[in-house]
Amino acid sequence: MSEIAKGKCLCGRVKYNVKINEEPVYAGLCHCKDCQRYTGTAFASSLMVLKTDIEISGDLKFYGKVTDRGTIMKRGFCPNCGSNVLCKSEGWKKFYVLSAGTLDEPEVYKPSVNIYTRNAQPHALAAGDLRQFEGPMERQK
Ligand SMILES: [Zn+2]
Ligand SMILES: [Zn+2]
Repeated sequence: MSEIAKGKCLCGRVKYNVKINEEPVYAGLCHCKDCQRYTGTAFASSLMVLKTDIEISGDLKFYGKVTDRGTIMKRGFCPNCGSNVLCKSEGWKKFYVLSAGTLDEPEVYKPSVNIYTRNAQPHALAAGDLRQFEGPMERQK
């Protein structure tokens, strides 16, 4: 089973349709230092999709950086708004790693693993235990 999902960057200049398989090769949260820096937050929520399963409109700008495995990871950003939409690597030629936060329907993304937890920000693995607000945080009057 698979389903077609849509997604876009923050400004909407880059859009895509993607086929999401029920059991993606990888769907997880990466806590490596590179993911912390390029997302500007604690981890990257992403999933692997076959290049042949995604149709992208709009141009991405790529920034390449050598990984700890010695391959070059190229991260693709919308040149207008800076959102990271996907990554590609020589290490997995058939796939893109799609940034799950760009999906229109968050339910289609079902992460199953945390990786590089040795680099995790201490708060990141405990995020579910923090106080929760459905909307913005209500301030004390
Ligand atoms: Zn954009
Ligand atoms: Zn990472």
